[in-house]
Amino acid sequence: MRGAAGPRFIVPNDQLSAGPLVVEGHPLGEPAVRQAGWFPPQASSDHQLSAGPLVVRRDSHGGPAAGEAAGPPLDGAPASPSRAARGTRVRCMASPWRARRLTSSTTTIFAEMSALAVATGSVNLGQGFPDHDGPGFMLEAARQAISDGVNQYPPGRGIAPLRQAIAAHARRHQGLDYDPDTEVLVTTGATEALAATIQAYVDPGDEVIALEPFYDSYAASIDLAGGVRVGVGLFGPDFRLDHAELAAAFSPRTKLVLINSPHNPTGVVLGEDDLAAIARLAVAHDVLVVTDEVYEHLVFDGAVHRSLATFPGLRERTVRISSAGKTFSATGWKIGWAMGPAALIDEVTAVKQFLTYVSGAPFQPAVARALDEGDAWVAGATRDLQDRRDQLAEGLTSVGLSPVTPQGTFFMTTDVRPLGYEDGVAFCRDLPHRAGVVAIPHQVFYDDVEAGRPYVRWAFCKRREVLDEAVRRLAVLR
Ligand code: PMP
Ligand code: GLN
Repeated sequence: MRGAAGPRFIVPNDQLSAGPLVVEGHPLGEPAVRQAGWFPPQASSDHQLSAGPLVVRRDSHGGPAAGEAAGPPLDGAPASPSRAARGTRVRCMASPWRARRLTSSTTTIFAEMSALAVATGSVNLGQGFPDHDGPGFMLEAARQAISDGVNQYPPGRGIAPLRQAIAAHARRHQGLDYDPDTEVLVTTGATEALAATIQAYVDPGDEVIALEPFYDSYAASIDLAGGVRVGVGLFGPDFRLDHAELAAAFSPRTKLVLINSPHNPTGVVLGEDDLAAIARLAVAHDVLVVTDEVYEHLVFDGAVHRSLATFPGLRERTVRISSAGKTFSATGWKIGWAMGPAALIDEVTAVKQFLTYVSGAPFQPAVARALDEGDAWVAGATRDLQDRRDQLAEGLTSVGLSPVTPQGTFFMTTDVRPLGYEDGVAFCRDLPHRAGVVAIPHQVFYDDVEAGRPYVRWAFCKRREVLDEAVRRLAVLR
């Protein structure tokens, strides 16, 4: 069921304060005081994830209630009252020096759940990383680069062969032409490209439209910039884009539209009609478009990923972001990139150079080779991933869960209500203890927590025997 009609409208942190929030109790059993920021930034006690006792106290001397601070509603689309009531940012146990706009946790949901998997000996179907390596020739190229002394600062925009390979890849797969010298920037993963782009373009109060559920770093980066997140729901059970809601999300304050397709966590690959609608609105409202295409090759059943930048009027206003992590099973290498018109890439570079200056020297020639020579490897790996998707879907079905078949990414979603749970967090909290398996509750990706409440994300980018073992363990849920 779709949540409240109209876009969801979230105020920047500096307009909110519910007072310090103290969270005690930790999934690993250690007492911990931490922010709850890896939950939706308005997280409250009822969606804290903890296997241990969890105590949440909120100081009474907080600032204005979120609803009061939420600012004027969007044209024709009032902020949902329930949203406003929930719209509390968590700022807990801050030092006296902490910036108000720093809202995120020191531990992301992914890191926390991976630690929980290790601590409980669980099969980790939580964090989206493959448990197998990328192409051997790419790994060898990195080893060789280290042996050859490619260990000092590379050029700020990335080594020329990698920028050329990125441009050639975009031409080959999307028919898009970028000048490798002026229109391509190598970054420390897509995460840095996203962060640098958001810092380069979002001023306090600027609205950023993004598909909700959102990848976790979007919320953090938009908050750091003082921006206002406007979610457009890809909500269950069908996880389809509502074009009327999309249109209503645009306002005179919209600065950019951030589109992730194939989409984490739903596995949705936006269709031509969705992309065309986004493109038309972006042009009509004259806004910047940022595309997160990290799963660009991981599409199944003949689905096609088409970059938004290929639509009329979009190339000149789009920063395209991707990375080697997912495509080449090397999430730890953190080589990503942004491409777009030279003026935009200059501005993103201006931020990137003071975030990390440069990115992973010996990995750059290796990723260049993978992009140049790895198309066949990627096609084979994607077919194999599709088989593993089907394997996990069958396994989850056998224990009474009905996955929504994803057209792309590493992830599938189930509604946990058939197993007697109303809440995905409660389910994920119990799962390691009941079954020895870890998954990720959808709620962590939502501002509209209700919309995500019953859903859970399962990663299928794991070896067959690992998926088999997970399904064998999950049989206790039947
Ligand atoms: N965007 C999405 C949608 C993701 O799932 C991820 C996680 N890989 C990233 C960005 C970050 O990519 P990277 O690891 O290259 O920083
Ligand atoms: N993208 C990965 C996921 O969604 C996680 C990456 C991370 O841990 N930051 O699971």
